[in-house]
Amino acid sequence: MRLTIFGTGYVGLVTGACLADVGHQVVCVDVDAQKIARLNAGEIPIHEPGLEDVVARNVAAGTLEFTTDIELAVSHAQVQFIAVGTPPDESGAADLKYVLAVAESIGKSMDKRKVVVVKSTVPVGTSDKVRAKLRDVLGGRGSDLDFDVVSNPEFLKEGAAVNDFLKPDRIIIGAATDHAREVMKELYEPFNRSHDRTIYMDVRSAELTKYAANAMLATKISFINEIANLAELLGADIEEVRRGIGADPRIGYHFIYPGLGYGGSCFPKDVQALGRTASDIGYDAPLIAAVEAVNNRQKTTIFDKISSHFGGKSALAGKTIAVWGLAFKPNTDDMREAPARVLIEALWDAGAKVVAYDPVAMAETGRIYGQRDDFVLAKDKYSALEDADALVVCTEWQQFRAPDFEEMAERLATKLIFDGRNIFAPDRLKRDGWTYFSVGRAPVY
Ligand code: NAD
Repeated sequence: MRLTIFGTGYVGLVTGACLADVGHQVVCVDVDAQKIARLNAGEIPIHEPGLEDVVARNVAAGTLEFTTDIELAVSHAQVQFIAVGTPPDESGAADLKYVLAVAESIGKSMDKRKVVVVKSTVPVGTSDKVRAKLRDVLGGRGSDLDFDVVSNPEFLKEGAAVNDFLKPDRIIIGAATDHAREVMKELYEPFNRSHDRTIYMDVRSAELTKYAANAMLATKISFINEIANLAELLGADIEEVRRGIGADPRIGYHFIYPGLGYGGSCFPKDVQALGRTASDIGYDAPLIAAVEAVNNRQKTTIFDKISSHFGGKSALAGKTIAVWGLAFKPNTDDMREAPARVLIEALWDAGAKVVAYDPVAMAETGRIYGQRDDFVLAKDKYSALEDADALVVCTEWQQFRAPDFEEMAERLATKLIFDGRNIFAPDRLKRDGWTYFSVGRAPVY
């Protein structure tokens, strides 16, 4: 099938590349001319394992093209995906201006019946707004062309996006007509060979499914962080508690790891937007509000531990703190809402210097913060430790899990670790004479 994807970010680029990989003829269009130029030069603007190969393979085969030409993109295909950003506006609601701008572009150029597929995460009712916008623009052109608007939210995880897209747990299709369902069935046929992973539903349910999924996952994280904070105060060990509760299949082990709170481009904004959707219709949703509040507090806990260990915020002035991990989770360079940012900015505010290392997010971090006297991006994880007063682990990259502790001790000014992801074993660090703080466990001295 011929397909057009609006937006070449994490979702649009992965969607376009993977749909081309299963045999569709895909055009990806973006308003960011620089991004399209980089893609046309064979560069992948984001870090996503496996993506470069899929893109290169399909560009070479002629099944994947990148353009800024909107008219060409609209005329290319019967199916038009909207995969542009939906960032929060000032009120916390999802800002639909990019989604509606795409609807307008499609309406201006379409001259045949189209299926418009909303893949962006959008509040319930957005597909109706897309439909109204299309109808309005077509009406302005004196056209009464028919079209369908489908909700097809995306569930890929950054860091594993290609694999998630090619082997989805489920494909959610919210459609109102048989025609739209048939088109979507054919489009996703290659993913349903072993068993049908598609769940068809009405458009509003599909839109809400995406928010419900993210809110549920965020709830698990805030829940375990709440229990971790209690464990610490009560003299319990959250890792024991985690194993104890995860053994119950109704709870399970997934997504109950204590840490520094969730970040990234999805959970924070989606939980906020769901809360906003509730308040817009006059519904009090205390659980959603609490998930967000717990998370915001959790992002500050590691700084509080550092500050209180050194004897207060003012004692941090002039100290050098090494940070391992910047991205909001491993295997991505996405720094949006990363807990490391909250920590680093608090350290700067206290007058400390930060020396940081991340396997892939250094360029993005440099782009965000620019040159500063109190910030160094180290060339590797060990050189980040040179004469630092403490190490803080912010992201649980595999390469941080089994480091050479002797080398670390030689490089650091003090054998002091604040572990925001519980990746080290307290007993071992105690034996080797470290001072070690983690999440939801007693510190060791
Ligand atoms: P992104 O910011 O990485 O990319 C969005 C892209 O859209 C940018 O390249 C931007 O230039 C482009 N764009 C903006 N307006 C445009 C227009 N009028 N025409 C063409 N292109 C335009 O965003 P993302 O992370 O890919 O997220 C996209 C959507 O998917 C969001 O709604 C997000 O919530 C959702 N989502 C994201 C993830 C994720 O892990 N990142 C997962 C599932 C769902």
